Amino acid sequence: MLVPMGELLQDGLKRKYALGAFDVCNLEMAESVLQAAVDNSSPVIVAIAEGFFKEVRFETLVSCIKEQGAPLKIPVAIILDHGRSYESCVRAIRAGVTSVMFDGSALPYEENVRITRDVVRAARAVGVTSEAEVGHVGLGTEYEKTESGLTKPEEAAQFVADTGVDALAVAVGTAHGKYKGEPKIHYDLLSTIYDTVKMPLVLHGGSSTGDERLKRSIDYGIAKVNIYTDMAEEAKRRIKKTLDERYDKVRMNDLIHETRNAFREVATHYMQLFGSEGKA
Ligand SMILES: [Zn+2]
Repeated sequence: MLVPMGELLQDGLKRKYALGAFDVCNLEMAESVLQAAVDNSSPVIVAIAEGFFKEVRFETLVSCIKEQGAPLKIPVAIILDHGRSYESCVRAIRAGVTSVMFDGSALPYEENVRITRDVVRAARAVGVTSEAEVGHVGLGTEYEKTESGLTKPEEAAQFVADTGVDALAVAVGTAHGKYKGEPKIHYDLLSTIYDTVKMPLVLHGGSSTGDERLKRSIDYGIAKVNIYTDMAEEAKRRIKKTLDERYDKVRMNDLIHETRNAFREVATHYMQLFGSEGKA
């Protein structure tokens, strides 16, 4: 069944588990994530980032995920990930997502508030939940810059009060993609933010952060962890192995099959780690 993400996150906070939000950019990836959720009786969030729009017909992919997710017994939320504008969020709502993330984290604070507030209002009018980011989660390749973008607890509280957003993405030491160096999560900061805002917090850049660190962050108020790179890297590794071993005999279908297995298995790993397994 299709549900707004907000419901799932509230249940996660109540029952002490987190939801994986798995980014996909084609139907095979989406089907594999849904299959993992069914196999593990896990609620799931399927995410499509605006950064993928050049590679994917967004409306078509959303309608395929809806068609496959709606008849399932497990709850499925579909979110626009890292929406870059109010217009993108409205486009996603029209396409049928159940949640939108507006990412104004690189904008001046006041502008982030202004656009987020508009997105929340438009989304709420049609039963769609929203996520926004305060502080800035950067790239793992520029990990040394992370400290300068960390979320400030007072700003987070003000942001939530000003916008009415349903979930808040925070910068507490993770980064997108692969890390240059060791990730360091600021649990004290995370715990202060949670105590200040008392709402579902989102950790972007979950990939390669490490199982122990991710699990601990859930104890400190994280209700959603975004994952993409780990699934994509596992697919690349398997495709390379297949090609290296038997290039002349490989069919394109075999490579698609490897991609499916990689996404399904990595998503399964994280559903079990985050404790969403069996919570559907
Ligand atoms: Zn992200």
